[in-house]
Amino acid sequence: MASEKLTRSAAQVLIEDNLSNVVDLVAFSPRENFFEVHSNEGSVSFRRVLKSSSDEIKEHFEVVEETGLNPLLNQDPTSFCSIEDQRNAGYLKRSENSYPYAFEHLAQIWDHKCAPDIFVSHTPAHNFESRGGHRGEHGSLDILQTRAPFIISGSGVANLGVLEGHGRIVDVAPTILNLLGHSKMSSVATGKTEKYLISQDGDSLDGFIESGGASHVVVFLLDGCNPNVLFEAIRRGLTPNLAGLVLNGSAFKHGIFASMPSVTLANHTSLLTGTHPGHHGVLHNAWWDKDLNEQIVTESPSTWHVSMRWLNGNVETLHEAIKRQNPDATTVSINEPADRGATYSTFDLWRRGAMSALGDLLPKDGTLPEFASENWYRENKDYSWASIADHLSMSQAIEIFSGSFDGRDFSFPELSWINFALTDAAFHAGGPDSEIGYGALIDTDKRIGRVLEALYDSKEFEKSAVLVVADHGMEETNPEVQGDWEKELTDRGFKVRDESFGFLYLDE
Ligand SMILES: [Zn+2]
Repeated sequence: MASEKLTRSAAQVLIEDNLSNVVDLVAFSPRENFFEVHSNEGSVSFRRVLKSSSDEIKEHFEVVEETGLNPLLNQDPTSFCSIEDQRNAGYLKRSENSYPYAFEHLAQIWDHKCAPDIFVSHTPAHNFESRGGHRGEHGSLDILQTRAPFIISGSGVANLGVLEGHGRIVDVAPTILNLLGHSKMSSVATGKTEKYLISQDGDSLDGFIESGGASHVVVFLLDGCNPNVLFEAIRRGLTPNLAGLVLNGSAFKHGIFASMPSVTLANHTSLLTGTHPGHHGVLHNAWWDKDLNEQIVTESPSTWHVSMRWLNGNVETLHEAIKRQNPDATTVSINEPADRGATYSTFDLWRRGAMSALGDLLPKDGTLPEFASENWYRENKDYSWASIADHLSMSQAIEIFSGSFDGRDFSFPELSWINFALTDAAFHAGGPDSEIGYGALIDTDKRIGRVLEALYDSKEFEKSAVLVVADHGMEETNPEVQGDWEKELTDRGFKVRDESFGFLYLDE
């Protein structure tokens, strides 16, 4: 880590007024279990206190000092929880914004040996021209970038409709293991039963689960899907299959919240392990390893298939946890990089140089992927590649549910994890609450419907539960709000690396 003096002087530059249109707040950890968050209006410092009871070690957070306006004063998870509230909010100022789970979700970053010297959370409006000038963005700590949907339906699931409540991304994995009837592990230290996974930051959302549970769980991960937009699509009748899952099951009104940074691979891995990025190891889409003097990239077409080499040995994926109790189980990971331990994985085909297995599933020459909206498909390059990827996701699931694929026979999977990318691509392109965004939800809903048909045909439908989640939210940016904190620091003489837009590593 850089010295405290250097870190403080860089943080001071970042919160000057001339960067306040792009820097929402900065965070750093000057010593173990102690954290500071600064903005141009005020600061808060807090510490993590570990309390051990007879059952387990629990962490909680205490504010040490506030100066000026505490940037993390509002952590209300119920804010901006409808499409009207979201529209009326416009480009949120810090004083109007909310930062649910801010202490927990920031602190865990510095549990990773490659944690940055400073984490910059960008403003909601910041458009990042250098990152592609997306109309929708995420990565920050605020509520609309961290809020993801949570819908659960089917066997063993209570029919509660849309429930006032919320959870965290890290709660998903333990909830699935509970739903599948897996038992908790007993702690060597205390002899008491505690957790569903060897490492676990989240808790099972027990309120949704009825006795009997489910024999099979099918998860649809809708990357970057802002839940306000998802529920608006349901209200407008655009997504009948998603509507049916809510109607026959339950959903959290206030969603589930992503850990920091609120980006794809860090939170996909959190969904699949029940642990925060600083604990499972896949810290960000890219970071800097000072020991190796090397940039680590996880989230890119050339590294997805090997990204799990950074996953710690002391965490379990859902695939591994399921097989620990049921070694004969089949588990499936479709178009999902966080796949360690899966019986079938698309990225395993890639690692083995066997991607030709997907060739027969591709749309025939000159034809659109099934269910793709033609106008958006032809108009937007990201929409078209994501439509092809999602067509392949759907098609692999259908084949595997039918019992065989690529010359392999499959018993019906205990876990089927199906990753869809189109929502993220379209919400980035047009902003979440845009015509292209609703187009993506319409297409995705049809693909979900087709997979649910295959599930119905398999005769395992009655014993199956279905979840819909996302890895992070998405917030509309303002193309007029540009700015570059890395350039400002460099101009002021700092030697700095800015990894993945916001992980700053300083050189003495
Ligand atoms: Zn994502």
